[in-house]
Amino acid sequence: MADKRDYYEVLGVSKTASEAELKKAYRNLAKKYHPDANPGDKEAEKKFKEASEAYAVLSDSEKRAQYDQFGHAAFEGGAGGAGGFDFSGMDFGDIFGDIFGDLFGGGRTRGQSANRPMQGASVATSVRIKFEEAVFGCEQEVEIPYKEECPSCHGSGAKPGTKPETCPKCGGSGQVVYTQQSMFGMIRNMQPCPECNGTGTVIREKCPSCGGRGYNSRRKKISVKIPAGINDGQRVRISGMGEPGTNGGPRGDLLVEVVVSRHPIFQRQDYNIFSTVPITYAQAALGGEIRVKTVDGEVLYEVKPGTQTDTRVRLRGKGVPIQGNKNMRGDHYITLVVQVPERLTQEQKELLRRFDEACGGSVGTKSKDSSAGAKPKDGEKKKTFKDIFK
Ligand SMILES: [Zn+2]
Ligand SMILES: [Zn+2]
Repeated sequence: MADKRDYYEVLGVSKTASEAELKKAYRNLAKKYHPDANPGDKEAEKKFKEASEAYAVLSDSEKRAQYDQFGHAAFEGGAGGAGGFDFSGMDFGDIFGDIFGDLFGGGRTRGQSANRPMQGASVATSVRIKFEEAVFGCEQEVEIPYKEECPSCHGSGAKPGTKPETCPKCGGSGQVVYTQQSMFGMIRNMQPCPECNGTGTVIREKCPSCGGRGYNSRRKKISVKIPAGINDGQRVRISGMGEPGTNGGPRGDLLVEVVVSRHPIFQRQDYNIFSTVPITYAQAALGGEIRVKTVDGEVLYEVKPGTQTDTRVRLRGKGVPIQGNKNMRGDHYITLVVQVPERLTQEQKELLRRFDEACGGSVGTKSKDSSAGAKPKDGEKKKTFKDIFK
């Protein structure tokens, strides 16, 4: 994304500006740069959009706090803004309604103006990434449908040299009132104006290069920064990559859902990683160094002598980085599972029998005690051993 100007700078106010000051500053800018007052002036339109976005954020105390803390990063999914800022749920009409009601309100219903700036719709897509890519973050290219403002008419849809006119049927309100006689008396119904489809304007001569739509559709490849620590199903929001706004409103956002592939060894829960590591009976009994796979590569781990099967061990800081704070990481828990050999050579069997004898057992005697499995009496330690090496 291009470098963005500071929102306070855009509105020309101090960081401690009150709500009233913000509104006043935006009102002046909007008056100066509104597309209605500057037909065909791209620079003015850009300034208007910039100011509208700044005001949309700063006039909302919650978003303003986020912005004060994180700057623009707060609203760009890729840049550590884990919480992501939701432009899509915002009704620009409500925010700007009273301002534009005052400014351009000739005959329109306050807050319902068809010409009010509206943010474009969000566009959703998804991308599949590997387990490790989710852990450490990555950059992925996605292809999206992108409506690009028509360069001939600058998005108005009207033939260059002309501009959309106020709809004569509804007078620009986008709505018409029908009165109907019913058994309860006269009923007044508001309906979208059929002449202008509720837009409040009509295009007499359509722009020939876009057919009056105001935009051209194409496929666009964009690079998406996926932050370290992202989890399956989470979405990255890229502001300004959605559908174009109307009447100078900002573009919608692009929402990229992240699908994380399963890993053959690692499982993830929140920021911790889990895996199972097989060890031999001898390693469990005598202890020894083993190599353990982690997302950072293999690490050496010293198995303690006398380790029981299913012992869980924590490898501190070998888990997933906390989103928005790469220096903090979860842990990796390994479960040590003692492997019982399924096939033994004669020599190995003999050694094990001798080992058993040394433990005071009698694997070779084939004695069957019916009380086995209940409480073992003294001298029956062999049962435990036999259970493992049956
Ligand atoms: Zn056009
Ligand atoms: Zn109309």
